[in-house]
Amino acid sequence: LSGRKFQSVSTMIEVAGRWIGDGTFLVIAGPCAVESREQLAATAAVVTSAKASMLRGGAFKPRTSPYSFQGLGVRGLELLAEERLRSGLPVVTEAIQPKDVETVAEYADVVQVGARNMQNYALLGEVGRCGRPVLLKRGLAATIQEWLLAAEYVMNAGNPQVMLCERGIRTFETASRFTLDLAAVPIVKRLSHLPIIVDPSHSAGRAFMVPSLTLAAAAAGADGVIVDVHNDPASALCDADQALSSEEFKSTMVDLERVLAVL
Ligand code: PEP
Repeated sequence: LSGRKFQSVSTMIEVAGRWIGDGTFLVIAGPCAVESREQLAATAAVVTSAKASMLRGGAFKPRTSPYSFQGLGVRGLELLAEERLRSGLPVVTEAIQPKDVETVAEYADVVQVGARNMQNYALLGEVGRCGRPVLLKRGLAATIQEWLLAAEYVMNAGNPQVMLCERGIRTFETASRFTLDLAAVPIVKRLSHLPIIVDPSHSAGRAFMVPSLTLAAAAAGADGVIVDVHNDPASALCDADQALSSEEFKSTMVDLERVLAVL
């Protein structure tokens, strides 16, 4: 279902009046985790003023350590819905368990499946029945073939609205948190009709790399990026090192415009 052999025309996905895969470059931005009403509102204001199109924010967080902040859960979803109303920004947020998918889908415009859950087949089946577009991240050590097969699970359950997200894979290199596999962009474009988004934040793990990787994703032909931005990165409860500050995000957006203008 996800292959070009099945469908030669590229898939376009509509999310609250925004299109993904229509040739325009989509920027999804926001905090790694929803922490409070104030934090979300301040960060969403930056996202809006920089003219990004959608708001990201985790309410259910799949953390490597059980001692790390696990997200606000349903309270986080409520805050996202509130911010959606205020700002008009569609919301992208993650479901980490099959039993939460229905609730997440009630609040979210796009349901995210995180890297650690790419092969959680029960979850993939559930998001396949949720009626919302799905952002499917590549697993930490998944081949492109395995990733496309994960997309197949979602589509086979009845949901054709899948966007893939390259977020870096584990390699021997430790200078960045993961190695962003930008070659995945043209490969996926050749193999599949699904849109592909790049996450420069979770791959880099450190904010200084995020602006360059965002521009590189655009130049590589991705359909968009999903970027961690925080109104006060130093105080972020989740992945603080990779969050762009307001100023860094705004200047990245200006540089991105310049890159997109010459493509
Ligand atoms: C996220 O986007 O919040 C996240 C946890 O990303 P990943 O699944 O790519 O690690």
